[in-house]
Amino acid sequence: MATENKKRSVSFDTGEETRLILDSLDEFMEQEVEPVRDELGETWENPRLRHEDDGRLVPEVVDAIETIRKKSADAGYYAMNLPEDVGGEDVSNVTWYRAKKHVASHGVGLTEYVLAGPEGPKPLLMQAEGDQVEKYLEPAVAGEVSTAFAQTEPGQGSDSPNMDTHAEKDGDEWVLNGQKQWITNAPYADFVQVFARTTPQEEAGRYGGITCFIVEADEFELGSMNNAVGLEGMQAELLFDDVRLGEDRVLGQPDTAFYNAMDFLSLGRLELGAEAVGYAEHLIEKGVEYANDREAFGRPIGKFQGISHKLAEGRARNYAADAAGLKLAWEMDRGEQAIEESSIFKYLATNVYFDIADDVVQVHGGNGLSEDNPFMDHLHVARILRVVEGTDEIQLNTIAKQLGVS
Ligand SMILES: Cc1cc2nc3c(=O)[nH]c(=O)nc-3n(C[C@H](O)[C@H](O)[C@H](O)COP(=O)(O)OP(=O)(O)OC[C@H]3O[C@@H](n4cnc5c(N)ncnc54)[C@H](O)[C@@H]3O)c2cc1C
Repeated sequence: MATENKKRSVSFDTGEETRLILDSLDEFMEQEVEPVRDELGETWENPRLRHEDDGRLVPEVVDAIETIRKKSADAGYYAMNLPEDVGGEDVSNVTWYRAKKHVASHGVGLTEYVLAGPEGPKPLLMQAEGDQVEKYLEPAVAGEVSTAFAQTEPGQGSDSPNMDTHAEKDGDEWVLNGQKQWITNAPYADFVQVFARTTPQEEAGRYGGITCFIVEADEFELGSMNNAVGLEGMQAELLFDDVRLGEDRVLGQPDTAFYNAMDFLSLGRLELGAEAVGYAEHLIEKGVEYANDREAFGRPIGKFQGISHKLAEGRARNYAADAAGLKLAWEMDRGEQAIEESSIFKYLATNVYFDIADDVVQVHGGNGLSEDNPFMDHLHVARILRVVEGTDEIQLNTIAKQLGVS
């Protein structure tokens, strides 16, 4: 009985295996990422040199990201949350959460590309069958190619099932037409997973009738860049003009893509929240260092409560966000969809990160605003995280619905 209870109890212990992964990730970042960044030098340090005039990343930076992705995959980190039979390591959601948070706690930069993000394989791609496994899934897990997930359009974002992009059957082929925007990694992806309506809402219902197509880079037209301030060069429009695709490009069953994506919604929110918690940890550390070092009126500014309480409050709120992230990951490991928990965590973690980013800019005074420091970059990133993977309002709608007040 005692052993049984022990087994079922929740553990906040990182565990030896996960600790080893986190330590070796530190080593990897030091030995493999830092030299790549050093080699880029000013091209990476100066955001003006990092981008072309239209915002796109310069080729050296694209190459550097590819190098990091490939090395991380070779070392077994990149998509370690996916099953072993497709090249992953099958680590638990709790371990994946800790790894994502740990990497983010090193700050914003090239380390972001060590663990698979929106450009990498997601469980949606696990629907791959037959030749798709060898052609798309396995190379994506191995970091040899990158992908993108295309749902948002000029006419809809939060209301995603209401999409205009559509595909019709013509003989053995599908004909795809439409436009997507804000698609992360679109300018560099080898293939894109595109959501399109294949059966009208009146027949299939709001969430039915949507199919995911695999579209290769030379089959679509890249539209304008969508440059989000603080993340320039990563998002763009995609245009589909009578793109003809065989049955072998349907990912999963036709008309079921939206349900498949909903199944994995919580993972996206877990990953993004983990990054927010890690970045916030990093910022608090930087804030504490500066508060102890910088003097005003004859004493370190950390001696003023106006400063120390900002950092203490941030620490308390981020501690709670971290606990919520672990709880979510644990629920997911138990096989729960954890819809409400993922909304709570995503909302909490990104808002806490945003407030901490703002406070840490303030702690640094003028230096906080300087482009030579990363603090305003964090403020931009934090702002972005409150919009992507479901806006603040969409998360609150989900929580309210679970509460029975909407
Ligand atoms: C940096 C970045 C990366 C992105 N990457 C991708 C990607 O890889 N793939 C992809 O498909 N998309 C991507 N997106 C798009 C992103 O998912 C959408 O921007 C987001 O879903 C919001 O949609 P929208 O911009 O159309 O805003 P809208 O849906 O038009 O919302 C506008 C405002 O209205 C609010 N609102 C809307 N509906 C409701 C409601 N029912 N109740 C209360 N408030 C509501 C919203 O919360 C928001 O404040 C990315 C966006 C950005 C900025």
